[in-house]
Amino acid sequence: MGAPRDFGVRHPRALVLASQLPLTLLLAAGVAAAPAAWGLHLSSGWGQAALVLHSLIFLAAGVVPLQRFGPLASLAIPVLDLAAIGLSRFAAAEELPGLGVLSMLPVVWISASRLAPAAIVSISFLGPLLAGLPWCFAAGAEDRPGRIASIGLLALTTLAVSLAMQFVRAQVRRQQGKVDAKEAELQALLAESRERERLLNAILDAVDVGIVAIDADGRRLLTNSWQAMLEASAAPPGDTRPTDPGWEEQLVLTGRDQATPLPPGRRPLRRALGGESFADHLVCFGVAPGSRVVSTGARPLQDDDGDFRGAVVVYNEVTGLVNALAAKEDVVATVSHEFRTPLTSIIGNLDLVLGEELPLSVLRRIEVAQRNAERLQSLVSDLLMSASSAVHVQPRKTDLAGLVEASVGSARAHAQSSRVSLAMDVAAPLWAEVDPLRIGQALDNLVSNAIKYSPHGGAVTVSARAEGGRVLLQVEDSGIGMTAADAAKIFTRFFRSPAVREGSIPGAGLGLSITKAIVEGHGGSISCSTLPGQGSTFTVDLPAEGTPRAF
Ligand code: ADP
Repeated sequence: MGAPRDFGVRHPRALVLASQLPLTLLLAAGVAAAPAAWGLHLSSGWGQAALVLHSLIFLAAGVVPLQRFGPLASLAIPVLDLAAIGLSRFAAAEELPGLGVLSMLPVVWISASRLAPAAIVSISFLGPLLAGLPWCFAAGAEDRPGRIASIGLLALTTLAVSLAMQFVRAQVRRQQGKVDAKEAELQALLAESRERERLLNAILDAVDVGIVAIDADGRRLLTNSWQAMLEASAAPPGDTRPTDPGWEEQLVLTGRDQATPLPPGRRPLRRALGGESFADHLVCFGVAPGSRVVSTGARPLQDDDGDFRGAVVVYNEVTGLVNALAAKEDVVATVSHEFRTPLTSIIGNLDLVLGEELPLSVLRRIEVAQRNAERLQSLVSDLLMSASSAVHVQPRKTDLAGLVEASVGSARAHAQSSRVSLAMDVAAPLWAEVDPLRIGQALDNLVSNAIKYSPHGGAVTVSARAEGGRVLLQVEDSGIGMTAADAAKIFTRFFRSPAVREGSIPGAGLGLSITKAIVEGHGGSISCSTLPGQGSTFTVDLPAEGTPRAF
């Protein structure tokens, strides 16, 4: 395991022994290579002393726990080595001439230590020099200069080696410093990014909105806890993992009717994986009753080159809102329906009374009651229609010129009483595949608005023409017009412009939203161009051949 290997690498005594071993082995090899020196060496007192000193140093390196005396105490071994080499040289220089070179080993050892650089340099130079002096002075006068030069050269060489090592060590230390600084920087960044991740996770789990992030292969990178709960409510039985790319396909997702399974291509993650960006895509999790209505939206993620890298999909539950809207529409529909029967009876009876011989003052009052009852009836039918979620159209071949004529005809009395001129511009016949009742209703709404919002002396023109495969109906007036901000909202239910609301022009703000629903039910569109004080032009654009098949 780890312990024995650690012992080999880290135990201080083993390190000292390992550092000493090369010198001991080299000495042994040198001695072994010169057998002629053995007798002489062992018989001389200096030779024996050198041998004993080398052996004692080797023993001390392996046995004495020098590190206990301080981190630098083990350097006593290489210093003693220098002395022992000097002694050996003195005793056997003739037989083993290259002994001085061995001084390099203790010098390298000392140079690699943590001793102060000045001390290292001094020992590296003076150690071999002093150790060589006895050998130098043992020589005769004629050999001495040569030996002095030899030890001088050796001392300079060891000094050079030591200096080179100091230089390399300084370089290494500098590099190490840089690496340590970078490492510290990285650790700080890592800690910061972990902190941010924790913060992000806390935020993601605190919001009551589902969030899913996927990569370009549809694998989930993130699912917050709200979303996990939402998916658990629509999960099939079994143990499929939500991290599977195909997980969404397994969820019980339904359409707006909360019953029809949502086709794979309409599922939010699948759409997002296709690179789509969308908002307000309504999806139901589970089947009614108990299903949850969720508004979903997605944004693709792109890399620097604009390539698709994945997407983020957001799920916002709107079950409460949808239920409240449905309940409101139910109430409106029921109340309007309940109003219709008594109103029809009131209007019918007033009609009958008006046919009788009555004093003029009574007749006037009954006419007022009848007008108001009729207004109430048209309001109730508008409410009923706008409460139903879809407009059902039954198109058939219809002459639009006839419809325009009928609409203008029935508005004529209203135009006269408002002192507005009413004209039409249409070449009969103008055939189109439309529901005559519905398009007639739309025309009536537009014409009655044009008259209603024109001052005395105004002019209203209704025109119709064919253009390509389409028919265009236009109602133009010279009335009060609207600001651009108001014009942008007129097709919204119950919207009435502030100018109209402040005046006394009656209305509920439903006519145009119904008109738009009718036109769109035919696969057409409606637009308005207007300027305040300069009148308005409403244009209805319908496909002449009827609703396109795919609509
Ligand atoms: P209503 O006429 O009952 O208020 P509508 O839905 O028909 O409801 O119209 C919505 C609003 O649009 C009106 O209240 C009015 O402010 C504006 N509007 C519609 N038609 C015209 C028009 N021809 N000229 C000026 N404003 C109009």
